Amino acid sequence: MLEADDVGHALMRWGNTRFFSPLGMNVPRGFRRVLGSRMPPDDVLLTGPEMVERVLAPVAASPALTGCVRAHHRVVAVGRAGMLRGDHAGHPLRGERPFQLLVETSSGEQRFDADVVLDASGASRLSTFLGAGGLPAQGERALADRLVRDLGRFAERLPSFPGRRVLLVGHGHSAATAALALAGLAAAEPSTRVIWAVRSAQRRPVLEVCPDPLPERRRVASSANDLAADPPAFLDVRRRTSVERLEARSAGIRVRFSGGDEDDFDAVVALTGFRPDLSFVSELALEISPANEGAARLSRALGNVTDCLSVPAVSAGDLESGEPGFYFVGAKSYGRGRTFLLRTGLAHLETILSRAVSPTGTTFA
Ligand SMILES: Cc1cc2nc3c(=O)[nH]c(=O)nc-3n(C[C@H](O)[C@H](O)[C@H](O)COP(=O)(O)OP(=O)(O)OC[C@H]3O[C@@H](n4cnc5c(N)ncnc54)[C@H](O)[C@@H]3O)c2cc1C
Repeated sequence: MLEADDVGHALMRWGNTRFFSPLGMNVPRGFRRVLGSRMPPDDVLLTGPEMVERVLAPVAASPALTGCVRAHHRVVAVGRAGMLRGDHAGHPLRGERPFQLLVETSSGEQRFDADVVLDASGASRLSTFLGAGGLPAQGERALADRLVRDLGRFAERLPSFPGRRVLLVGHGHSAATAALALAGLAAAEPSTRVIWAVRSAQRRPVLEVCPDPLPERRRVASSANDLAADPPAFLDVRRRTSVERLEARSAGIRVRFSGGDEDDFDAVVALTGFRPDLSFVSELALEISPANEGAARLSRALGNVTDCLSVPAVSAGDLESGEPGFYFVGAKSYGRGRTFLLRTGLAHLETILSRAVSPTGTTFA
């Protein structure tokens, strides 16, 4: 298990955001056996960093995984020994050669060989761009370091927002979470001003699953939609709007919107989603979904599921990637799709480990 950063790095970037799903849905049964009485209760809603501190880091450090978890090992390339992407693409012959990985570590580059590779590298490292059609807005790339792109950075910057002008972009659950936090701030400091720009034309732009069995998700989506539908004085909601241009000003950022309006902001909070990093698997003959950059067969099997809690069962074949022995697992298998839930990812992993990876069939707990 190679992790580019510290164990649980992606979850550490959630700030104080809590899981919508209770802990019992987010971990395999074996975790309770490993942690014993240290395991928090199944019904608790942990924040991302709490999940790391109380669950993932202790499991990674447990005797059960001694020597298995290598932190600060970033995979920079995965290929098939001596074969280019086009050599026998889609043919089982490729399965006769081992995988070779080039890995960046603190002591230099290392090579690893593997018979099976599970790519669980998530989809939270690369943000989707702000501009119309997913293209970078003019000036966006140059200002990337000044934009708030995840809830962890948002939580860090929030104390500096009272009385400021903030642009919030996006209408997913992260943007909804940020809108509620900004409303709390504006209640304490009424001079705070927020423009919330969304691509959607809906009066209630955040997707609500009805009836939503996850109460925390229901609360966030419906409270943010209440704000958008009937905005208080601090909030101006701009629908069917995207960002055309960003320009650095001495004390902030000037933004030009798709309608031609321009405004100056002290901060731009761009929570427009993430896309998977496929750069390090580009020498593999993979079937990638044209719609979401996740695993193509899985994407076809799931069709247009919009409720992450009612997903159809998928077969071992649906979880194959086109490259024998290589599997996308976890959030990366859904690519840009926003409906991934750990519970589904764990079920997929169980299928892969028990039926696909082990030809004799082992059980996974
Ligand atoms: C704010 C927020 C709230 C969410 N709430 C829920 C929820 O309530 N329930 C739920 O089920 N899901 C939720 N999700 C979805 C959630 O992201 C996933 O369920 C979960 O984090 C996916 O786990 P993962 O291990 O697949 O990927 P990640 O958690 O993204 O982990 C991927 C890991 O791979 C590492 N990595 C990346 N590239 C490389 C590389 N080249 N080499 C080595 N390592 C690499 C990263 O550093 C990272 O630690 C939420 C997501 C967000 C952003």
